[in-house]
Amino acid sequence: MTDRRDELAANLKDVRARIDAACDAAGRARDAVTLIVVTKTYPASDVRLLAGLGVREVGENRDQEAAPKAAATADLDLTWHYVGQLQTNKARSVAGYADVVHSVDRSRLVDALSSGAVRHGRDLTCLLQVSLDGDTARGGALPADVPALADAVVAAPGLRLGGLMAVAPLHGEPARAFEALAEMSTRLREAHPTATMVSAGMSNDLEQAVEAGATHVRIGTAVLGVRRSLR
Ligand SMILES: *Cc1c(COP(=O)(O)O)cnc(C)c1O
Repeated sequence: MTDRRDELAANLKDVRARIDAACDAAGRARDAVTLIVVTKTYPASDVRLLAGLGVREVGENRDQEAAPKAAATADLDLTWHYVGQLQTNKARSVAGYADVVHSVDRSRLVDALSSGAVRHGRDLTCLLQVSLDGDTARGGALPADVPALADAVVAAPGLRLGGLMAVAPLHGEPARAFEALAEMSTRLREAHPTATMVSAGMSNDLEQAVEAGATHVRIGTAVLGVRRSLR
């Protein structure tokens, strides 16, 4: 049996090779895409091993799990990405450790994150999560609501507008959806030129996301293994 560090190292190598190949195929520079390793359901000890393997960007999707994990690894030089649906009453906690929140999809959340950031004396980068299939129950704002939400983030103390995020729809071609996201990003940058981040692509669809122009991919399973189902 190989030990966990070897396993993570081998998986990371594979994922980095997939990202490099996708960049090459798309004619994009390899450093144009940042890997975020989503460590949800895996212990802080894995985060520590990953940091030892050169990972600097980590993601989580539940505050109850992320807050203690970030605290347990506070000695490491990590950037924490909060990628899950976020309840307003958890925003203050998330603002205490997250550097980037990928799931900003309503103005009440903008207000809550802003007051949390100010209270903690931190600056938070916010990505607007867009629903690509109109099913906002899975999180994400409707595309029509993005411009006003962007303006709200820009106006909010402690927040900075980073760009857009999306999850591929459950049905249909991820490539189509990621292209639509890229077009929304182009429109967003006309009003907000520094909002250049496009967070898209997971273990099963990172190639399509990179092809469409993603700047950040969020990878869990392909690095850490298949998650046990949440209780
Ligand atoms: C869990 C999760 C990921 C990673 O998904 P994998 O398929 O395990 O790579 C990416 N984005 C979000 C929002 C997630 O919740």
